[in-house]
Amino acid sequence: MRKPVIAGNWKMYKLLSEAVETALAMKPLVANANHCEVVIAPVFVHLKTISDRLEGSNIKVSAQDCAPEAKQSANTGEVSAEMLKDVGCSHVVIGHSERRQFYGETDESVNKKTKSALSANLTAIVCVGEMLGERESGKAEEVVKTQLLGSLDGLTVSDMERIIIAYEPVWAIGTGKTATPKQAQEMHGFIRQTLTETHGKETSDKIRILYGGSVKPENIKDLMAEADIDGALVGGASLEAESFSKIVNFNG
Ligand code: PEP
Repeated sequence: MRKPVIAGNWKMYKLLSEAVETALAMKPLVANANHCEVVIAPVFVHLKTISDRLEGSNIKVSAQDCAPEAKQSANTGEVSAEMLKDVGCSHVVIGHSERRQFYGETDESVNKKTKSALSANLTAIVCVGEMLGERESGKAEEVVKTQLLGSLDGLTVSDMERIIIAYEPVWAIGTGKTATPKQAQEMHGFIRQTLTETHGKETSDKIRILYGGSVKPENIKDLMAEADIDGALVGGASLEAESFSKIVNFNG
């Protein structure tokens, strides 16, 4: 019922020529992947070139962030959701833990950015996830619930149709430590329960919840076998066409 999403977050990696080379190498490798949506998220300055080069393919292009302000305005250094749409993006990642940790992103700014993304007709991939200490002290669910409520505050049921949630435990990002499928499923189930409380069961049943944190070709199949895991947000393993395509083709 929920079409899986496999999204690659390229973070601040690759020069333009390398990004084009990887994107073009991915094209044939994922061309038959009708079972899922395939998304890659290069840096801002590569978005137009990559989306042009991927035109007609089944790979969608996402930005890694957007401005909280929706309107064209005096905000030096920012890029609006409308501008992302204009250069060919269909998605935008919002509230990635690296932005929360290192760039002062808060649930309030994530909420504003999410609303901007929706107003520009982009699909927002909203990231949540606890730190290691929070998990160890038994606060993981409380932290994730607070992030969800703050990040999605004021969104209507129809807004939720263009929201994807990415659960990324911070302790599993880039560390090689993956949450076990059981740990991930427990949190995904909790997230869906929280979304049922806020927006009703019919809506929460439709929302894709992605897992992120050291996803690799070797562990994707077990993660995807869980009831509430609807795809993956992949960092390191999305940087090479071959490993990313193996993750995309998890059903093979
Ligand atoms: C990420 O950057 O969102 C991520 C999950 O990274 P990695 O797959 O490298 O852990």
